[in-house]
Amino acid sequence: MSILLGCIADDFTGGTDLAGMLVKAGMRTVQMIGIPREPIGDDIDAVVIALKSRTSPVEEAVAESLAALRWLQQAGCRQFYFKYCSTFDSTPRGNIGPVGEALMQALSSNFTIASPAFPVNGRTIYKGHLFVGDILLSDSGMRNHPLTPMTDANLVRFLQTQIKGKVGLVDYATVRQGAEAIKARFETLKAEGCNFAVPDTITNDDLIAIGAACADLPLVTAGSGIALGLPQNFRRAGLLPEHQVADALPPTGGLRAVIAGSCSIATQGQVAAMREKHPAFNIDPFELANGKDVVSEALAWAKGKIEKEPVLFYATATPDAVKTVQARLGTEKAGSLVENALAAIAQGIVALGVGQLIVAGGETSGAVVKALGVSGLRIGPEIDPGVPWTTGITKDATDATLRPLALALKSGNFGTPDFFLKAWNKLAS
Ligand code: ADP
Repeated sequence: MSILLGCIADDFTGGTDLAGMLVKAGMRTVQMIGIPREPIGDDIDAVVIALKSRTSPVEEAVAESLAALRWLQQAGCRQFYFKYCSTFDSTPRGNIGPVGEALMQALSSNFTIASPAFPVNGRTIYKGHLFVGDILLSDSGMRNHPLTPMTDANLVRFLQTQIKGKVGLVDYATVRQGAEAIKARFETLKAEGCNFAVPDTITNDDLIAIGAACADLPLVTAGSGIALGLPQNFRRAGLLPEHQVADALPPTGGLRAVIAGSCSIATQGQVAAMREKHPAFNIDPFELANGKDVVSEALAWAKGKIEKEPVLFYATATPDAVKTVQARLGTEKAGSLVENALAAIAQGIVALGVGQLIVAGGETSGAVVKALGVSGLRIGPEIDPGVPWTTGITKDATDATLRPLALALKSGNFGTPDFFLKAWNKLAS
């Protein structure tokens, strides 16, 4: 197995973001949910291990990231990528700096970059200061983030508070001159005892130049933007084909269903659009709370319908209805009752022959993926920005009698109103 790029993401959706970027850049990519326990396929160029370490205690984040690194090293990765948020979500203690330092040490390296920039998404860096759109990070809504309030936009100064080593700047005049100048500046910074370089970045071309300058670094630490530049390094080295369809998934076939546990506005519209065209079963949290066997009822209802057309199971409700449920049952209890029911329905319909499943809602997706024993996702074609089709990797992946399961895990507010109707067209059946 020869994986080129091994990535560690500090949260799940950040991991998906990076995985999608790598696929678009021509790298066949798998996203693993936590540190893998089983081997993964050998037709893969990049692995993203998604942790939940963004806001965990520093020591935990470091230990988990090192464990992920060990797995990626054993898988033969040539370069490593620590992915964090493009708003550099962290505190004066961590976790970006300490995790970056620990990974560097484990890789016997003493130099990396720190680059949350992503100009197309409005994240630019000038004189070391991170801008969100037209304003400094410290003037943006991130100032009031409940867990990681960002009150200093100067990344050189802020990262310095998190680490034992030293941070330096690659200023814009240098970045504009391209990859060779950036590399030369890296050498100067190293000679000055710096371990992290924050490169100024105004345009996507800058990111590509910075990516090229990072070809020989064992570790990069960045948002997902640098993923624009890294794949080209592997091509230049003859390790990655010039043109490669990276988003092909094995044909899955099987029946089609949608499970919606999100109450976000986009999902409400998508549920309404699907209900007009296909059979739909509503999950009532009060019935669940009263102990009614809603799951068996839903599965019995589906028989005879699901063989003919896609069906929808939804708990999606209006904000007022959700408030009433939460007031009577408690927010957490209502949430977990609904999540558990939807996860059990997912298990039931897969047993009925569903091979193509859309799930709406972040928490809901987590519950469904867990119930189905899915430990990773092979990233396929994008349906709408940020939502690709994937195939689930399960412990029994080597069991040829098991049909691969196509999954589209949609964060609540993503997708156009016809998402549930059009998504199937992107899949080979
Ligand atoms: P999103 O991605 O839109 O935030 P999530 O699945 O992450 O969606 O979160 C939605 C939460 O709301 C889940 O915990 C789900 O179980 C819960 N939920 C869904 N429907 C209802 C409902 N009718 N009443 C109360 N809670 C609900």
